[in-house]
Amino acid sequence: MKVGIVGAGMVGSAAGFAIAMRGGAREVVFVDRNAALAQAQAEDIGHAVPFAHPVKLGAGDYEVLAGAGIVILAAGVAQKPGESRLSLLARNAEVFSEVIARVRQHAPDALLIVASNPVDIMTEVAQRASGLPPERVIGTGTLLDSARFRALLAGHLGVAAHSVHGFVLGEHGDSEVLAWSSARVGAEPLDRIALQLGVAITEEVRAKIDAGVRQAAYRIIAGKGATWYGIGAGLARLVQAIRDDQRAVMSVSIRSPEVAGIADVALSLPRVIGAAGVVSTLVPSLDDGEWAALKRSAEVLKDSTAGLW
Ligand code: ADP
Repeated sequence: MKVGIVGAGMVGSAAGFAIAMRGGAREVVFVDRNAALAQAQAEDIGHAVPFAHPVKLGAGDYEVLAGAGIVILAAGVAQKPGESRLSLLARNAEVFSEVIARVRQHAPDALLIVASNPVDIMTEVAQRASGLPPERVIGTGTLLDSARFRALLAGHLGVAAHSVHGFVLGEHGDSEVLAWSSARVGAEPLDRIALQLGVAITEEVRAKIDAGVRQAAYRIIAGKGATWYGIGAGLARLVQAIRDDQRAVMSVSIRSPEVAGIADVALSLPRVIGAAGVVSTLVPSLDDGEWAALKRSAEVLKDSTAGLW
């Protein structure tokens, strides 16, 4: 499969690198309004290929996207000093709509993956601008937050993160919801596994893991300015699930008709990912508090887009 990446900054290039290291595509092409950057990323990642998988790297204007099965949108628009959130959003939406029109022109059959922030809103912008069905416009959403949740819980319990199943739902942001009540280790609920392993999962532990997940991006940004490896790897994983029609269950964001009583909102739920994009959405088993938190998260997203369309 050929994968296009629009936006060859830290996130876009980390995705390209992760795809090359995993052998996730036959060809990866970069497009960026900074053409020299796109070219340089393609060349640099191309030099990793002899140590990795046979992936062909390229860069250029939007024409290079021709034949792509997936296009990742990782173009970032920085906030201007003093700019309001809604004004930034409106500007982002405008830039994104232009980018999407050009992507659609050259890669009409491509499924879109949205990585630009605020990702849930950009996913809705991309879906509206592209006119594609919602299941073909997938935002990374809480894909990375769920990975962080699993990793922190696994570390606490002393088991592999791969054996921990749990999701972060809702907005990729402050209102996101850690679905503690449906988390499993192996096939066991948390209280049972904690008992069997002799490791307590107290309120204090939960609060620490919750903060660890919720504040991860802030911590990393404080240390290195931005985050890119985690999301890059997540994007490569998502690409493989689509390319191989894996039917893998991941928490990703798509525009959804109704979530927790809130109509028409893009946010993350556990979804089955295959060649057609989101093949189905799973209804998580949550307790009352978690449903209420998910509803609040949906409301936060709805409110933040009020006046945008
Ligand atoms: P991030 O950390 O989100 O990757 P960066 O600033 O490193 O942020 O990268 C964003 C990239 O998106 C930059 O290389 C920038 O040139 C590119 N970009 C921004 N706007 C557009 C656009 N309209 N079309 C194509 N690329 C864009």
